[in-house]
Amino acid sequence: MSDSSETAPVRAKHFLQTIIESDLAAGKHGGQIVTRFPPEPNGYLHVGHARSIWLNFGLAAAYGGECNLRFDDTNPEKEDQAFINAIQEDVKWLGYEWSGEAKFASSYFDQFYEWALHLIKAGKAYVCHLSPAQASEFRGWATKPGKDSPARDRSVEDNLAEFEKMRAGEYAEGECSLRAKIDMASSNMNLRDPMLYRIRKASHHQTGDKWCIYPMYDFAHGQEDAIEGVTHSICTLEFQANRPLYEWFTENLPVPSMPHQYEVGRLNLNYTVTSKRKLKQLVDESYVTGWDDPRMPTISGMRRRGFTPASIRNFCDMIPVSSKNNSDVDVALLEKAIRDDLNEHAPRAMCVMNPLKVTVTNIEAAGDGLLMKADNHPKKSELGAREIPFSKSLFIDRADFNEDATLSRKKFKRLVTGEYVRLRSAYIVRAEEVIKDQKGEVVEVKVSLVPGSVGNNIDGIRPRGVIHWVSAEHSIEASIRDYDRLFLEPNPDAGDASFLTHINPNSFKEYTAYIEPSLSKAEPEQRFQFEREGYYVADRYDHNAERPVFNKTIGLRDVWSGK
Ligand code: ATP
Ligand code: MG
Repeated sequence: MSDSSETAPVRAKHFLQTIIESDLAAGKHGGQIVTRFPPEPNGYLHVGHARSIWLNFGLAAAYGGECNLRFDDTNPEKEDQAFINAIQEDVKWLGYEWSGEAKFASSYFDQFYEWALHLIKAGKAYVCHLSPAQASEFRGWATKPGKDSPARDRSVEDNLAEFEKMRAGEYAEGECSLRAKIDMASSNMNLRDPMLYRIRKASHHQTGDKWCIYPMYDFAHGQEDAIEGVTHSICTLEFQANRPLYEWFTENLPVPSMPHQYEVGRLNLNYTVTSKRKLKQLVDESYVTGWDDPRMPTISGMRRRGFTPASIRNFCDMIPVSSKNNSDVDVALLEKAIRDDLNEHAPRAMCVMNPLKVTVTNIEAAGDGLLMKADNHPKKSELGAREIPFSKSLFIDRADFNEDATLSRKKFKRLVTGEYVRLRSAYIVRAEEVIKDQKGEVVEVKVSLVPGSVGNNIDGIRPRGVIHWVSAEHSIEASIRDYDRLFLEPNPDAGDASFLTHINPNSFKEYTAYIEPSLSKAEPEQRFQFEREGYYVADRYDHNAERPVFNKTIGLRDVWSGK
């Protein structure tokens, strides 16, 4: 990552940096650090995952280590190859590279099975025939110790035979499970004989019909880390109470290495939902056009919206890494991160959203000065310049003209009858006459240009301001897709009502606008600042030279007013 805007300011180290540095100094794990990012392929990655990716890949890179991409695919019913592909694409797009091939929990299923036998043989696991409802009742609750399952003290031989029957498909789903024999009275509910394997008569996207028993997350995760030599296994705070179980497995199994689990606060964004289940519901029930709809907080949605990988990484970098609290972050911070990045890097261009016809009555006064030259960026000459055709017939935005000449110059820095305004990178013009239709609406403004005013001030002429424009005959029609926040409530998940009741009904509009001709050469995913309007990106899929399509990424300023 060579982007200079990412140079982190000097700041206190967070707890994981401190831990890793002291582990490295002590020569732990052979002086190596290995992390992993372990998504379950049951949906697309979202902004919370971006944070986890930034942390895991970022720490590995910062300390000369490696980060694995590992699919935690122990739930066959909900997972899909399409999600696996999308996740890989998103991680790469964010600018990260995983170590070696992508890894799959399912490729360790044989090993997990061996380790289940190991626990049974050591008298530390048993097949339990309680129904799910009974098992839950037997577990007790925080202040009430659990009760032993009737099968808890069955012999090793019987357990081996029962487990073999489970594996061979002789039991139905829910009829029995394999459980660890730990402590039914533990104050940590996770240690009350947790389930290791359950029966699922489902085909798996990687292993097909080989298995009808699947390991539970807890029985899989630490062992996956151990197999891969992960040294620092970072997860979110809700897994804190699972850590003793994580350690129980690594201590009671002949694992090849000793990983350690660390918990960090989760990232929550207001005006946003980041549960995969809810995101899936938005897609399945057509509230959005897909996982990569530009309003979605998914990485592919943010990409299509025009966010840059650097802006998402910078955003992650702004949020403290905490071992104690989740981070509730204002979505305005994410919007600022993208605005700052685009302000610095996006070339400028002109697009008139709501056209008003302007006729230059003295076009002959321009002589052959009909090709304007405009810098692509006010501060970055390396972004070059472009030519913009000027002509007798122009479009400006309706909002940039007002008939009322009594409007104060301070309040209205645009075109007013009888006064001057500068057309960006072109002439100063004066509004001479207004043409109206039968309803009294202004349909055309006749202006005169000031000869010699391109790039020059003219003595005695003080334009009110600078406005954008395009030549009517040279401009190109483009579809503009205007997006806004998907939810009206800061916390769509709060309260009794479904999060769906807080959807912003006006989060999408599409209309035709007029762009300067140079934009016909825009490539899909190329980003621009449309002068005075905001940041826009050529749509990744639908944009082409015949019919340009631009998505609004974000306005120039934070003007969100909510409901
Ligand atoms: P969801 O709750 O959206 O379904 P998940 O945690 O079940 O998410 P996983 O695919 O298991 O999704 O997540 C992969 C990794 O990303 C995990 O290590 C998880 O802790 C981390 N992660 C998920 N959401 C967030 C978040 N909001 N903030 C930080 N890390 C997250
Ligand atoms: Mg999960």
